[in-house]
Amino acid sequence: MSETLDVRIGRYLRELTSHPDRHVGAPGNHAATAMFAERIAGFGFDVARTRFDCIEWKYGEAVLEMDGERFELLVGPYSLPFDGRAALVGVSCVEELESEAIRGCIVVLHGSIAAGQIMPRNFTFYNPESHRRIIRALDAYAPVAVIAATGRDPEMVGSQYPFPLFEDGDLDVPNAYMTDIEGERLLAHAGSIASLRIDSRRVPTTAEHVVATLQGDAPGRIVVFAHIDSRKGSPGALDNASGVATLLGLAELLADYTHGPTIEIVPLNGEDNYANPGEMLWVGANEDRMDDIILGINIDDAGMRGQDTHVSFYSCDDRLEAAVRQAMGGRVGISEGLKWFQSDHAIFGIYGRPAIALASADIAGFMAKYAHSERDTIELADPGILANAARFLRDVIDAIATGASNPSAVDPATTA
Ligand SMILES: [Zn+2]
Repeated sequence: MSETLDVRIGRYLRELTSHPDRHVGAPGNHAATAMFAERIAGFGFDVARTRFDCIEWKYGEAVLEMDGERFELLVGPYSLPFDGRAALVGVSCVEELESEAIRGCIVVLHGSIAAGQIMPRNFTFYNPESHRRIIRALDAYAPVAVIAATGRDPEMVGSQYPFPLFEDGDLDVPNAYMTDIEGERLLAHAGSIASLRIDSRRVPTTAEHVVATLQGDAPGRIVVFAHIDSRKGSPGALDNASGVATLLGLAELLADYTHGPTIEIVPLNGEDNYANPGEMLWVGANEDRMDDIILGINIDDAGMRGQDTHVSFYSCDDRLEAAVRQAMGGRVGISEGLKWFQSDHAIFGIYGRPAIALASADIAGFMAKYAHSERDTIELADPGILANAARFLRDVIDAIATGASNPSAVDPATTA
């Protein structure tokens, strides 16, 4: 059984990473959700498949010329197209953006206003007022295009240089980005007329939201997430084909599951998308029934070769934590890790539900070196580590189910 599960998880990993990437709406994304839905139905789960509208981004180059010079810049992800001439204006703070002086101009955002990536317009889980204010100013004062001159954002996965200040299919102003050094060269020409072309298109398409349910005989449910989409341009082996392969491994291990709470397995389609479409659909369908979630589980960036799988705890009461620790007990390769918040387990936190997250021990190193890049390839992943994680999760479910058969042990109504 154990070799077989390793082998099957390895096959899921190969299938999921067989396309260039699985960004929402891409061919690889469609193939991945279809494969997941078919496989998990075969393990006895009830499967609900919902199609939703999304945007596919097609792009070419960005070209900027002024005063006889040419400047290096990149197309902003999901930007609208632009081809025209306008005066160039430098802006380094939001007050300068809230001004008629930028109307009809090409604005160069630089300095403190361009220090960190701006949350997308419709990203609701985390969106500070300072970011919303920038989007409102762009709406109100309507520059014709925005060029961001950026350095490194240490908060950002992959530490890209330069990084796109906006990654937002709901932003109405065409945008591009360049290094802060190139930005300084460009700003020496502020006030002159620039000629700018941004070759970029938004193509309407669809993708699929899948929810798989194994009905239990006890109250409450255990919800298990692993996002199925990847960043455009990244094969997303550890981020997060490995998590989805673990979901399928767990589903297979639940073949004989009869007594305990309902198990809901969700390959969320949108963790690496600007609008989190799959997350929004799941939240929309669950907003008024979060209370019955006994435990939320999220798997992301797990299965890196040679590393432990870290389990981190979020708002688990003593009894719940004891059940998880019982399943961890003595299991080689599973150990406790620090809390982190940059993935879908944050959703459980927003709604006050207890959660655990599974990730590779050196998630910080993975995010800095591999995540969201073409380097996140299948060679990084060890199917044996993922099979071990799937068996551990089966044990977690059993430990909770044993408690759940005694209502005073783990009662969803009292775990909040
Ligand atoms: Zn991820």
